[in-house]
Amino acid sequence: MCPLCGSQNLSGRMDAPGASRLLECADCGIVFLEPVPDDLPALYEGYRREGGKRFLYGAEALVRFFRVRRARLIERLSRAPRKTGKNLRILDIGCGRGLMLAELASRGWECYGTELPGQAPGTSGAPFKVYEGRISDLDLPSEFFDVVTLWHVFEHLRDPMRALKEIRRILKPGGLLVISVPNIGSLQAKLFGRRWIHLDLPRHLYHFSPRSLGCALRESGFSIADWSHFSAEHGISGIILSFGALISGRGHDLFSTLRGEGKGFGAAAASMAFAPVAIVFSVLEALLKRGGGMTVLAVKPAGTK
Ligand SMILES: [Zn+2]
Repeated sequence: MCPLCGSQNLSGRMDAPGASRLLECADCGIVFLEPVPDDLPALYEGYRREGGKRFLYGAEALVRFFRVRRARLIERLSRAPRKTGKNLRILDIGCGRGLMLAELASRGWECYGTELPGQAPGTSGAPFKVYEGRISDLDLPSEFFDVVTLWHVFEHLRDPMRALKEIRRILKPGGLLVISVPNIGSLQAKLFGRRWIHLDLPRHLYHFSPRSLGCALRESGFSIADWSHFSAEHGISGIILSFGALISGRGHDLFSTLRGEGKGFGAAAASMAFAPVAIVFSVLEALLKRGGGMTVLAVKPAGTK
């Protein structure tokens, strides 16, 4: 049965590691991993390097740059008064090291995050609070947050519909929800097939398109205020990294190299040379509303519980 819309109209799309495969719902368009691997926490062992970093070289500096950009986007979307010290409350689900939260805290926000146990190292003493555990288990107060964000986290959740219900409960009426995910309906997903880096099997349990993400949000009582189909961070990197995997015929070499795992330098260099093409392609696919990464802004309607 489809975990989003309940339809029985499912078909196989692709084999996945282990005994799992990807199924697609003809009615809402969601693509999901079935069955979900037994030991999900084991899939995240070694996900972060020492100190919570994920990459080496200049890639870490780029990550920091993009997290500050996220903070600025949140301020713009919520029309927050700049640096006045007025407290707006934000919860970042799957906050990692909390780089965006630290930036917003410095701008006067009251900041909270959630992470899986052991995935938010170095955040004790930070200017924000991190809850360890799944959002549905944390029993956070109702109508407490002005903004809830999930940056490339929603596709990792075991039960996204349950999470949306819980997010709706803890958001204030009129509160904002920002979700950014890879787009399985993108041109780059079609082009690279199983080599598409944002498939990230088996960690990505759900693969959304604008149609299925819109369906999940509306079913959960949110109204959709805006879509962005361009992601400088995930759209461009998705093409470069997937291209590296394609020409090497192996795994994601550039990704491994950036993580300091020391293999695939040849393919990594070749895929970096491909960067100008990747930039043009990612802009074109975004103009067609089929970008590799997408961000949706949803609102909990005022006057609703
Ligand atoms: Zn469905």
